[in-house]
Amino acid sequence: MGGPIPGPDADWGRMPTWQAGPEERRCLMNESEEVLCPYCGQSMELLIDTTIDHQRFTTDCEVCCRPFEVIVACESGEVVGVDTQA
Ligand SMILES: [Zn+2]
Repeated sequence: MGGPIPGPDADWGRMPTWQAGPEERRCLMNESEEVLCPYCGQSMELLIDTTIDHQRFTTDCEVCCRPFEVIVACESGEVVGVDTQA
């Protein structure tokens, strides 16, 4: 059999001293964008997560209750384009 495996001399007996800093706050960048319902033309505000470059999701119109697709393009935390598809 082989000899003793030289392992890292880890001193696990000691607890690392964590700095009790403030909890890392996730900076959620949400922007509200106005979109128009492709069916009835009702405008509504949608909360967009601008940390995602390209996203598409389905939402329901508050007025006619029909689902439509929203396509959002974001760049460096800003909404650069919003499109809706029936
Ligand atoms: Zn509608």
